[in-house]
Amino acid sequence: MMPSTVETAPAVPPGFTCQRCGHCCLGPGDVRLRAGEVEAIAAWLGLTVSDFTDAFTRLTTDRQAITLTERPDGACIFLQPDNSCRIQAAKPQQCCAFPYLWRTARLANMCAGWKLHEYGN
Ligand code: SF4
Ligand code: SF4
Repeated sequence: MMPSTVETAPAVPPGFTCQRCGHCCLGPGDVRLRAGEVEAIAAWLGLTVSDFTDAFTRLTTDRQAITLTERPDGACIFLQPDNSCRIQAAKPQQCCAFPYLWRTARLANMCAGWKLHEYGN
């Protein structure tokens, strides 16, 4: 999830392949939901917007947006045991953009796909 200090990436790095390590979903941080994403995720889950927001969202730490909530261990509520995303088909833009369009040094160092892409291991 996205912490406060973000490094923007200039372009989609050719050859990057997600290794499904799940580290980008383990937190801490916020997954900020953009306009329309609450409705899209609620619809994909078969929930009303009200039921979805009650069960799966909270205010961001700066109280300026809505974010997905967390499991008790701090991981995103939608991270599954096999490191797949329960809402893959409707996941937020913030998730889709990592690490191509934004990343932090900490998250990049934890991303198995990024390390493979950058360092070959
Ligand atoms: S919504 Fe899916 S991709 Fe995004 S942080 Fe949660 S589990 Fe990861
Ligand atoms: S940290 Fe990188 S390799 Fe791991 S699941 Fe996220 S994008 Fe994929």
